[in-house]
Amino acid sequence: MKEIIDFIKRAKHLIVFTGAGVSVLSGIKDFRGKNGLYKTMNAEKIFDLDVFKTDPSFYYKNTKEFIYGLDEKEPAVTHRVLSKLENAGYIKALITQNIDMLHQKAGSKNVIELHGSAKVHYCMSCGLETSESWVFEIARRGEVPKCKKCGGVLKPRITFFGEALPMNALNEAIKEARKADAIIVLGSSLTVYPAAAIPSYVVENGGKLMIVNDMPTPYDSYASLRYDDLATIFNYLEKEML
Ligand code: ZN
Repeated sequence: MKEIIDFIKRAKHLIVFTGAGVSVLSGIKDFRGKNGLYKTMNAEKIFDLDVFKTDPSFYYKNTKEFIYGLDEKEPAVTHRVLSKLENAGYIKALITQNIDMLHQKAGSKNVIELHGSAKVHYCMSCGLETSESWVFEIARRGEVPKCKKCGGVLKPRITFFGEALPMNALNEAIKEARKADAIIVLGSSLTVYPAAAIPSYVVENGGKLMIVNDMPTPYDSYASLRYDDLATIFNYLEKEML
């Protein structure tokens, strides 16, 4: 375990890449994990752009709790420790596939959201953006929020299947990865591209890789440190390092 602290302290430009696994400790369901959303509900359909365009109510009916009920979710030890490590100067950037905003809630500042989040919604007809709370109130009832200006359907700025990743976020993430001499991958099976390619930029430059995930990843053989259990490691870091 002491190797983990050395890994963090030796890095000059350490970045972190997080996936759904880090939020499981906050009671949010993983997508591809053992009890993941893909096993229990039709996540591919919920976040499918064509389905949304034909019938937006399918998305809003199925997300009223696990997206719009997120206010009740609290950051877990993973989010807390990552925020403290950034404030202490160890972590330079945090790249996340998560849409739950828990890193920001825990106090992380330089967060790059590769799949967006539901913080902002925009009108599918006129493009008007809003982050006002009435959108959440309607969505929490499972109803479809409509544009105040033109009545068009509002869609969250979450990247759906069939949509490209937000270019700004992706470019920012690649820029950070090219600067990094070390990367820690947490709770991601690194299977969703192009996001999953981020660690390769670090490794290609001779940077070091640590992975904590409860399932195998395609990058395991490149990792100098490899662990399964996030809770054990983050409880240890919180006690021994911070
Ligand atoms: Zn509109």
